[in-house]
Amino acid sequence: MDDKTSVDGSCHCEAIKFKARVDVSRAVLCHCRDCQIMSGGPYRVILQTSEQDFQLVQGKPKQYIKLADSGNRRELAFCEVCSTQLYATSVVEDVPEGERLLGLRVGVLSQAAELRPRAQVWCKSRVSWCSDLSALHELDRQ
Ligand SMILES: [Zn+2]
Ligand SMILES: [Zn+2]
Repeated sequence: MDDKTSVDGSCHCEAIKFKARVDVSRAVLCHCRDCQIMSGGPYRVILQTSEQDFQLVQGKPKQYIKLADSGNRRELAFCEVCSTQLYATSVVEDVPEGERLLGLRVGVLSQAAELRPRAQVWCKSRVSWCSDLSALHELDRQ
């Protein structure tokens, strides 16, 4: 029995669209400094899939290669028109194309609201106020 779920995503300008099959129990909330800088928010939610389970439906992402703290190079895919980040993966020099794992940026998925993270990682760089958002005044709209 296959326990994977189909998800689909798009960048903000909709030049790039993709489909993927994922294990929804693998979503993780990441507090690392790179996620803060690159997402522009206090954290980001990531869901792993594989290249075999990922299918570009439209458009072609641009790549930015970053050097991780570990010394590994990471390939970050984004839309060159609207700058939406789509996923991170290994560089093809480290893992052959077709065998790589992709860390999908959950915010770009149509199913984002249902993908509850199972854990939070890199808590050493977590911003102090985001562990209790209920302390902030709430408005339904801006
Ligand atoms: Zn776009
Ligand atoms: Zn991160």
